[in-house]
Amino acid sequence: MERRSLAMLVALSLAMPAGAMGGPAEPTRASSGVPDEPPRFSGQLAMRHVRRLAERIGPRVRATRGERRAARYVARQLESYGYRTRTRTFPVDGGRSRNVVGWWPGAEPYPLIVGGHVDSVPGSPGANDNASGIAVMLEAARVIAGLEPAGLVRFVAFGSEELGADGSHHAGSSAFVRGLGRGGRRELAGMMSVDMVADGRPLLVTTAGIGPDLLARIAANRLRREGVAVARRTTCDCSDNGPFERAGIPAASVWSGDEPDHHQPTDTIENLFRRDLFRSGRALRAFVLSVDDALLARLRRA
Ligand SMILES: [Zn+2]
Repeated sequence: MERRSLAMLVALSLAMPAGAMGGPAEPTRASSGVPDEPPRFSGQLAMRHVRRLAERIGPRVRATRGERRAARYVARQLESYGYRTRTRTFPVDGGRSRNVVGWWPGAEPYPLIVGGHVDSVPGSPGANDNASGIAVMLEAARVIAGLEPAGLVRFVAFGSEELGADGSHHAGSSAFVRGLGRGGRRELAGMMSVDMVADGRPLLVTTAGIGPDLLARIAANRLRREGVAVARRTTCDCSDNGPFERAGIPAASVWSGDEPDHHQPTDTIENLFRRDLFRSGRALRAFVLSVDDALLARLRRA
């Protein structure tokens, strides 16, 4: 998360446990004909992603080798689940940064984007900001692989979300939105950013207050039905949902809130809260499992 202002408006704060599964009606794996329970969120796999990004690779500053390695790691993971991937580069800070897009074969071209940024600020391992978001995004991708929602979602690992030497921020998501073209921007259903999700409760569903807030409202409601403690907030334009909102696309971000290690060398695995990461992973899993044609149609009307 790139944040210049701490000023946030608390729009609504509700924590409401409830039982009902809001997911799609019994997704099936085609071969067996027997409805399978979708895979569970794996905390072990999520932690493996965080370790790989924040420890093995370390700081992933835009247009550097660290960011490139992180992007490659995400692409390989998505491919290992059966997704196709494409990496698109764009210029920042006198070098090249990149976005990785993953889609299920035959998926809609302009569906719901679920994305997070792989880059981090200089000197910070970026465990919470944003290895955490990438980890739960990858888990969501693994869980829905081969199920109906996989045709309705594209996963994007954005480069260059953080503020750069050239003064740009959200450069990867901005490049992505530009690359959609006018027709794609009109057709794209929505975008959910996953940015800093492993340190804090409740889980915040935010918008920058620029674009339609329909996706944020729907996501918050669905997560509450899943028993996740959720609050709605309007924040600064400080994550990858910003460029989508500016294009009039319903976009939102999930965020676990401000925390003392943000953009510090102390944003390490030791300082993130596994139970909060796992909470976020279960929440994103539930949300992507609930994505259906009706949701995309509703978002496109917003
Ligand atoms: Zn950040």
